[in-house]
Amino acid sequence: MTQAGGRAYRAIPGPTVVPDEVLQAMHRAAPNIYDDEVMDLTKSLIPDLKRVARTEGDAAIYICNGHGTWEAALSNLVAPGEAVLVPATGLFGHGWGRMASAMGIEVQVLDFGLSTPADPDQICDVLKADQDRKIKAVLATHVDTSTSLRNDVKAISEAIERANHPALLMADCIASMGCDRFEMDAWGADVAITGSQKGLMTPPGLGFVFFNEKAARARQAMTRVSPYWDWVPRVGPDELYLYFAGTAPTHHLYGLRASLDMIHAESIERVWARHEHLAQAIWAACETWGKGDALRLNAAAKDHRSRAVTTVHLPAPDAARLRAWVEARTGVTLGLGIGMQSEDDPTGEGVFRIGHMGHVNAHMVLGVLSAIEAGLKALGIAHAPGGVTSATDALAHSSAT
Ligand SMILES: *Cc1c(COP(=O)(O)O)cnc(C)c1O
Repeated sequence: MTQAGGRAYRAIPGPTVVPDEVLQAMHRAAPNIYDDEVMDLTKSLIPDLKRVARTEGDAAIYICNGHGTWEAALSNLVAPGEAVLVPATGLFGHGWGRMASAMGIEVQVLDFGLSTPADPDQICDVLKADQDRKIKAVLATHVDTSTSLRNDVKAISEAIERANHPALLMADCIASMGCDRFEMDAWGADVAITGSQKGLMTPPGLGFVFFNEKAARARQAMTRVSPYWDWVPRVGPDELYLYFAGTAPTHHLYGLRASLDMIHAESIERVWARHEHLAQAIWAACETWGKGDALRLNAAAKDHRSRAVTTVHLPAPDAARLRAWVEARTGVTLGLGIGMQSEDDPTGEGVFRIGHMGHVNAHMVLGVLSAIEAGLKALGIAHAPGGVTSATDALAHSSAT
């Protein structure tokens, strides 16, 4: 569909806006996978991916989405019959646990509900109680995209240490990597996973698994790993086909090259700072609107809010009415609520989400917030005025460069 009326903006939490540079890099004839070019391109991506994950460990690239990286990480490290602990703070935490369960892994879920971050002390207690050291890994979600809760991965790592427990720490950074600050090595995560289509601004289809030496040793101790998910042949091979267990995802690799160039030209620190300031503007608007009535942020404590996605309560049917109005009248698509069923909201429909991950700047965020405010007014939804002004104040007073 042509857009004579301007670009539509999908402010959803993935897949995210793909920069023109990435699209242009992908717009080319198929390369010859037997020339050095694609091999050199693939090799060049690895150190730049590791700089985004902040790790000196290894990186494996898969042709898959985020769910694939869940399975990849589990396949390399946890055998059927072994156990994992899942501190869940939303749909995605539970999803990773369900996948483990389907793989024959024993899953212990610590359910923190839909609006409370994971409590490292409770994780520590469970690990201390695990006298036989049956729990092989803790599957932590850094940012749960359904609730927009951000968990303290460093504190979870410290909890594992306090319990003097050998469990590996795996972090799902699919929503957060390249948006929320994440420091794999400094925070003590043994494995981190992400996908191409959120902070990395590339179409869905690539998955990334980062792992350190402790995880590499645990992989070596596994008696059997499914060959497609096995990360061993994928790290530093001599032949291109080994990187991907088959044909390379050629066009995605060119796109990813362009996206990593953009991230490192800005610097990962500045990328995080940009997401921080944009998130502050979004929170400021929502907090102001919320003084009027039922609209409110799901994550109460700022430290535990994602800088990549914001989940907003607006009791049914208003969330759906607002999304429909905003899309039809302003060209902005807001995210649906997912997995937010609760006693107060049995259908889970009293929620919308704002995606602000990846290729996003202040005018895009201000556009989204203004569109929401116009929608609240047009539909007569109770709210306090001045949300957009609060957002512009937040941006005007922020120290972002
Ligand atoms: C998006 C997302 C997933 C799932 O990724 P898919 O690419 O849709 O399979 C898993 N976990 C988190 C935290 C996510 O944000």
